[in-house]
Amino acid sequence: TGIWSEKALKEAKRYGDINVVEAGIKTEDGKLAIADQSAWNLSDDAAYVHYADNETIGGLQFAHVPETDKPLVCDFSSSILSAPIDVSKFGLIYAGAQKNIGPAGLTLVIIREDLLDQAKPEIPSILKYADQAKNGSMVNTPSTYAWYLSGLVFEWLLEQGGVDAIHKVNLQKAELLYGYIDSSDFYANPIAKENRSIMNVPFTLANPELEKQFLQEAKENHLLNLAGHRSVGGMRASIYNAVPLEGVQALVSFMDDFAKRNA
Ligand SMILES: *Cc1c(COP(=O)(O)O)cnc(C)c1O
Repeated sequence: TGIWSEKALKEAKRYGDINVVEAGIKTEDGKLAIADQSAWNLSDDAAYVHYADNETIGGLQFAHVPETDKPLVCDFSSSILSAPIDVSKFGLIYAGAQKNIGPAGLTLVIIREDLLDQAKPEIPSILKYADQAKNGSMVNTPSTYAWYLSGLVFEWLLEQGGVDAIHKVNLQKAELLYGYIDSSDFYANPIAKENRSIMNVPFTLANPELEKQFLQEAKENHLLNLAGHRSVGGMRASIYNAVPLEGVQALVSFMDDFAKRNA
């Protein structure tokens, strides 16, 4: 579905034959969407199926967990802890900490026990999940400060009411922002409704010449990092767990003001 799957593909190719399922499609009205699973060319003899739940750059998210009898492997880097996950459906979940967990330098892995000890013998210990599990994830000294800070984030999240509670806030944030974009002729979002990310909201301005001015004025209003990824351009609001509802309210109010002044 995008850059993260592409990067995973590049790494996986070192180890075996990979069958690529191009799940990203364009709908009749030109929106990006994820094809229904019935249209995927999954291979019957696959060792596992890998996907990225949320395409952080494009703002495209799976609405359902794929159905498969193979171990399901998922990159949850930009959506972990944003909504409840049925962990029992997965063989392996991995997520970089730097979006919803804590500082860069940690990767969280949740792996089914029967898959733990399947690494090739030549894989170094630090990358062997069985060794890490046996050693409490401390085969070597881990990045202790990042662990500590992540622990504080977990405590904060529990104080908010946990993942269920933050999910409700995330839905409110996403509905507010997408609702505003859909109601405006000045802004547009390129993703089909069912596959819109609740964490990363890309949007374009009807007049792209105003983009620079939009970013500059947003910054003056303390609304930062709204430029889209350089590979796609446009704008992108990343509304991770750390962004409160008030943050999205402030963004929508700025966007509306900007549209009125520049329409
Ligand atoms: C951010 C992200 C990564 C990893 O990002 P790095 O900055 O390269 O560590 C991987 N997958 C997804 C889906 C991401 O959003």
